[in-house]
Amino acid sequence: LPSEIFEVKSTDLAGRIGRLQTKSGVLETPALLPVIHPVRQTVPISEISKLGFKAVITNAYLTLKNYGDSASIKGIHRIIDFDGVIMTDSGGYQVLEYGDLDVTIEKMAKFQESISTDIAVILDKPTGSKANKSFAKETVKATLKAAKETLSLANRKDILWTGPVQGGVFLDLIRQSAKKTSTLDFDIFALGSPTEVMETYNFQILSSMIMTAKKNLPLNKPLHLFGAGHPLTIPLAIALGCDMFDSASYILFARDDRYLTDAGTVRLKDLRYFPCICRICLSHTPKELLTLEKEERTNILALHNLHVLLKAVTESKEAIHEGRLWEHLGAKARCHPRLWNAFLSLGKYTDFFEEGSLQSKSKAVFFYGPEDFSRPEVLRHRKKLMDNLTFTKKILLILPEDEMRPLYKSPLCLALTAKKTELLENVQICFLSLSFGLIPIEVSDVFPLSQYESSLKPNTTVDFQHFMVEDVIKILEKSKFSNVILVASNTQHRTFASKIRKTVPTRLVKVDRSMSKTVNNIYEILQDLD
Ligand SMILES: [Zn+2]
Repeated sequence: LPSEIFEVKSTDLAGRIGRLQTKSGVLETPALLPVIHPVRQTVPISEISKLGFKAVITNAYLTLKNYGDSASIKGIHRIIDFDGVIMTDSGGYQVLEYGDLDVTIEKMAKFQESISTDIAVILDKPTGSKANKSFAKETVKATLKAAKETLSLANRKDILWTGPVQGGVFLDLIRQSAKKTSTLDFDIFALGSPTEVMETYNFQILSSMIMTAKKNLPLNKPLHLFGAGHPLTIPLAIALGCDMFDSASYILFARDDRYLTDAGTVRLKDLRYFPCICRICLSHTPKELLTLEKEERTNILALHNLHVLLKAVTESKEAIHEGRLWEHLGAKARCHPRLWNAFLSLGKYTDFFEEGSLQSKSKAVFFYGPEDFSRPEVLRHRKKLMDNLTFTKKILLILPEDEMRPLYKSPLCLALTAKKTELLENVQICFLSLSFGLIPIEVSDVFPLSQYESSLKPNTTVDFQHFMVEDVIKILEKSKFSNVILVASNTQHRTFASKIRKTVPTRLVKVDRSMSKTVNNIYEILQDLD
């Protein structure tokens, strides 16, 4: 295998499109790996492969228990009959559940190598969802010990090893576990996600768990999230930087007659129409499916469910490619109030997202509401405003935002600057945007200030944000402006003026219906201040 096993191709927020080299080929990430039962797989793997899945995950422990050491003669690819990339989970959960003492860390390390898996997972001690803190601590410790032991035993250079991070919902333990695991030579890191957090749609807790792990793990390695097979979890986890997922949900839901939609599950019996146009939904009606034998119905439903999960991954990938992951996640978040809450709290991570977001994108940045102030583009603009721009003029003239892009082409600005007068020489022109705050004219033609589309217009219910006022005050404090002229189109501007007036004398000019009158009023004040 080449030295660079994982290559990041493009990024947006903390999400990325990457290429993971394995001995069975390149796996493009983010990727969802359907869980395949090594013995009792009912949905044919050939069908799963036909849907477009390039990688699957199966259970090494169950393989060992069912096939014994003879499994190594066949190899895992022949056992489950799949040519693509195979990841094997070591079965930490099963070992705990059955209290199987015969299976050791060493046994599972050697067994996974012997069946020639592509991606192996150490025999970890999963924290689980009901763990108290002391048990959680114990799992972190035991998993680290297993990690070191496994890496010292690993012989094959062509197998990628995965190091799981434990800690359950205890963020300090996740941090500690991630930090320590990151010092070990793993190819992939993984986060155990307590099923309870997922099942109860606790997306806010899930976000903080993922971010805690992510911030303490090397960014040049993929992060696998265990058990994330829900169409709402996928875009969030991808935006937060998870590169791989696995899930048995497609079959578990199907067994329960639950049909996946983009927004969650629906009971098959409650459906009159299939809101999907996959091959299965086009050739059946819900009623027809209900008349089929249980096993046949389950398998058919499972394939549709996989289709929905794959779609969730593909849509997020395309959003990364287009630099529209924020918009995509925002739209998905509307599907469930709990996801919406998680989306609203993403502001905490904007700093981290900013690093992954492109400096320039080909498409306009969209603003729908105050939640979009957490966009990395806003933070980047504010940093630039504070750290990179210096103002040397005496008068700060603030013009209202306009729909024209770039803003310097707004009719008022053009009319104002058309007059070639010395009066403007001492004037710094800026625009006051409800989306970005202060925009100096000099940067108004730079992305994203040149390309944003906003539903936040003057006279909407949204007011200038607190940070926008603060930013202007900070600029006034560090610059040499002796006066501010604020051209006001509504009461929001007046409130703004009253707040900054305490720092630098501020004159208000009301926007008149006649453009020339507004321009004349501005010039009158400029003359007065000259
Ligand atoms: Zn379908």
